[in-house]
Formats: sequence, C-alpha cells, structure tokens
Amino acid sequence: MHLQFVGCGDAFGSGGRFNTCFHLVGREINALIDCGSTSLVSMNKLAINRDAINAIFLSHFHADHVGGLPFFMLEANYILKRERALTVAGPPGLKSRYAETMEIGFPGTRALEFRFPLLLRELEIGKRAEIGAVQVTPFHVVHDDRAGPCLGFRFEAEGKVIAFSGDTEWTDALIGIGHEADIFICEAYTRERPVATHMALSTLERRLGQIRPKRLILTHMSNDMLARRAELPFETAEDGMIVEL
Ligand SMILES: [Zn+2]
Ligand SMILES: [Zn+2]
Repeated sequence: MHLQFVGCGDAFGSGGRFNTCFHLVGREINALIDCGSTSLVSMNKLAINRDAINAIFLSHFHADHVGGLPFFMLEANYILKRERALTVAGPPGLKSRYAETMEIGFPGTRALEFRFPLLLRELEIGKRAEIGAVQVTPFHVVHDDRAGPCLGFRFEAEGKVIAFSGDTEWTDALIGIGHEADIFICEAYTRERPVATHMALSTLERRLGQIRPKRLILTHMSNDMLARRAELPFETAEDGMIVEL
C-alpha cells in the first residue's frame, strides 16, 4: 500500500503547490482523500488512473479540498466513460453540499445522472464506517463549520493506520485521529504564529507526545512555513511524494 501526495498546498497555491489531495492505493483500496480544485491537473501530471479510484473521502467543503470534484465527475462520465461504482464519503450534509459544489462548477449538473453508480455517503462523526476495504473514523475538528462539520480522518486499511488532521487548529480530537498512527498527515499552516482555524507547528510540537505517531508528515503549509522548511525538525510533504506503507 502507498500514499501519494497529489497536492499538499494551502488554499492559495503557496510555493506553487497543488490543493489538498492524497491518493491511497493498496491491494484492494484505491481512494482519494480530499479533491481540491487543482487535483485533476495534478493527477494528469502524475499519470494517476482516475477510473480505478473507487472512493473519495472529503474532509470539509472548502474549495481547496472539494473544488476538484466537478472536474473529476464530469471527466469520469464524459471522457473516461466510467462504469464502475464510485463512493463519495464526507461530513453530514454531504448530499446537499455535493449538489452545490457540482452546480457552482458546472451549472445544471447538480442532479446529473451518471452512467456509473454514485453513492453519496454521509459519515457519522465518531462512528467507524466501512467503505470498501477501508475502515474510516471521522472526527470533528476545529476549522470553520460553515464549510463543515469539518472532519479529520483515521483510516484503517490493510493492517495500517493512516491519519489526516484535515484543516484545523489544535483540538484534542487530533489525539484520537493520530494516536500511534503509521502515518499522521497533519496540517501546519504557520511555524509559531497562532492563527484561528489552522495549526501552528509550535502548538503541535507541544502536544505531539500525546499523539505519538510513528511517522509525522506536515502538509497545507503557508509561505511562512515553506520559507523555513529546511530548519524544521519534521518531515514535510511534497507534491508527487510517495509514502510506502
Ligand atoms: Zn485547506
Ligand atoms: Zn479549509
């Protein structure tokens, strides 16, 4: 199993990085975690086969996490002539948010009938759900619930735990999300400066002893973080980077 960073940027393209999107592939699993606006461009660049993806997990409804969905859906239907079922899983309210996201991207597509079965799965916060070969537990994080409820995810697949903070400032929910995970992908928007709705790395550092991930990878970094990357004591994501699990 491996995870590839399709995009590890923030909402503003800092450092020329693509918006948030990770591709998790194993023996039976083939899923995207978030699908930010630039994801289809990056997947083309990385030669990722979109037709083989069978699930998309969405953490919240900011465009840098879901804006690529209309492109993905229309390409699947009209260009790839997809026939395999697709599950899109996300926070409660997903069904109406999905329709809004499609409609903003391509007016008239909110209720488009696809040639493939589409299952929109609203996840219950705190409750483990099984989606294909993946078990996912969604946690409520502290970001901006006008785009939520905003989630972080703890995935269990093929004997490994993959944890993702989503976008969030510090919350004790991160302990449950990332506890002793094989990889914990955590947003770190700033180095020291506390900022509402996002994580300052200095805050994460103080709490890391409670999470104890086996491997921590920082993502969603602002220009402030990117400029200081060489001096950071932690691993940082790069677009295209592959993590073997
Ligand atoms: Zn974001
Ligand atoms: Zn966000």
